[in-house]
Amino acid sequence: MTSKMTPLLEHNEQFARTYAPVPLGLPAAQVIVITCLDHRVDPAITLGLRLGDAPVLRNAGGRVTQPVIEEIAYLAFLGQRLSGGQLTDDSRFEVAVIHHTQCGTGLLADPGFRREASEATGVDEAALEASAVGDPHATVSADVGRLLASPLLPPRMSVSGHVYDIETGRVTTVVDARYP
Ligand SMILES: [Zn+2]
Repeated sequence: MTSKMTPLLEHNEQFARTYAPVPLGLPAAQVIVITCLDHRVDPAITLGLRLGDAPVLRNAGGRVTQPVIEEIAYLAFLGQRLSGGQLTDDSRFEVAVIHHTQCGTGLLADPGFRREASEATGVDEAALEASAVGDPHATVSADVGRLLASPLLPPRMSVSGHVYDIETGRVTTVVDARYP
């Protein structure tokens, strides 16, 4: 039986031929990206990220959930350890939250759709509502605020908010990088 993975693994075979491993260390771009899992908004492609450039956290909508905040707290801890505690002012990190237009989670703003989704999947309705991105400008601002307000946000880490437009491929900054 052929697997859907076959063409992808063939691609990987090509990739591995010229591959050079990146050692475990600080990400070169000094940015952590939080964005939607949508297959149209892969930041490696839209932002030109290469291996070793930036950790990317993705979930439905690119929402700043408690698990996402905990991942960032751990990444900061790991970064401190990998640098031997030598992180300077030049090595401050920025968390970039990127929401996008035409997000599939936008449908969850409709109570009827949300109820059906909850019944069909067993996922809590409130959780579905919390993930909805109807107006990405509004949700990205709210999520930047949530991250900045979290006591788990590591010190010396700034947060910015952006919207990716599916129609144009352009990323617009909605909230400039700021500290708590
Ligand atoms: Zn999305």
